[in-house]
Amino acid sequence: MSQLDLRELHSTEFPVPAELQENVAITSLSRVYNWSRRNSLWPMLFGLACCAIEMICTAASRYDLARFGMEVMRASPRQADLMIVSGTVTKKMVVPIVRLYNQMPEPKYVLAMGACASGGGPFKEGYNVVSGIDQYLPVDVYVPGCPPTPQALMFGLISLQKKIDGQSLLDMDEVPWYGVGPSDPVPVPILGPDVIDPRQMELIRQQAQKAAAGQPFGGREMPAAVVDSVVKAKKAAAPAAKPAAPAVAAPADASAADDPEKAERLRKREEALARKRAAQGKSE
Ligand code: SF4
Repeated sequence: MSQLDLRELHSTEFPVPAELQENVAITSLSRVYNWSRRNSLWPMLFGLACCAIEMICTAASRYDLARFGMEVMRASPRQADLMIVSGTVTKKMVVPIVRLYNQMPEPKYVLAMGACASGGGPFKEGYNVVSGIDQYLPVDVYVPGCPPTPQALMFGLISLQKKIDGQSLLDMDEVPWYGVGPSDPVPVPILGPDVIDPRQMELIRQQAQKAAAGQPFGGREMPAAVVDSVVKAKKAAAPAAKPAAPAVAAPADASAADDPEKAERLRKREEALARKRAAQGKSE
C-alpha cells in the first residue's frame, strides 16, 4: 500500500518551509477530496469479452493495481465507483450495463477499454453489437487497442486520476453529485425487434408485418403517438379514389372464346393496360 506523502498535497500558493514539508501541508479542500478519491477508486467486477482478460492481468501481481488503490474489484455496483467496460458490448448486454451504471453511487466514472467498447471495434455495424458504449453512458476515458495491454489500461487509469485532480468542488457542473437533489439516472435503452432470437423468427415476422401496417404488434410496441402518425402518413399517401374499372373489351382473339383461361388472361391484361394509360394521363 502506498504511504501518505504530504508533499503531494502541498499548494504552491502557500509555500511550506522545507524542514516542515513532511509534517505540514497547506492545501485546498478540493485537493484533499480529489486526492482521496483518485487513490481509492474501486472498479466494478465485470468483463464482457477478450479485453476482460487483459483487465484481469492488470489486477494480477505483475502489474499491481494496489498501487492505485484499485485492487478491490467489487461484485456489487453499490460499492463500485469505476466501471471498466472491457469488451464487446452487444445489444443484449447494453441494457444490464446501463442498469448497473445507474445503481452505482455518485461520483462514478466510466472507462471504455478497447476498440469494441469505444466504437464497436471489429464488430462495428454487426447485427448484434452497439457502436460504442458512449452512445449510452458518459465515458470519461477511452483506452484504444484490440485488446489494450495492461500498461495501456494503467495509462488510462492514470489519465482518469488526472481528470479527477482537475475537478473542483466549487464548480457544480463538474461535480454534480455534490449539489442538491439526486442526479437523474441514465435512460435504460429499450431494444426493439432487431435483437433476433432465431427460435422466435415466426413471432418476429408476424410482429414486423403488423408494425409495417401501423398496427400494435405486441410487448415491444411503438408509442401510440408514433402508431397514429404512421397510420395518418399512410392514409395521406394513399390515392384519393380508386380509378373506375375500365370496360372490358371483348377478346380480340377468336380462339379465346373457346378457352376460358386464355380469355381471363387477356381480360386482366386489358385491365392492366387501361390502368397504366389512366395513370399516364393523370401524370401528364
Ligand atoms: S477490442 Fe478486440 S480484444 Fe477487446 S473485446 Fe473487442 S475484439 Fe476482443
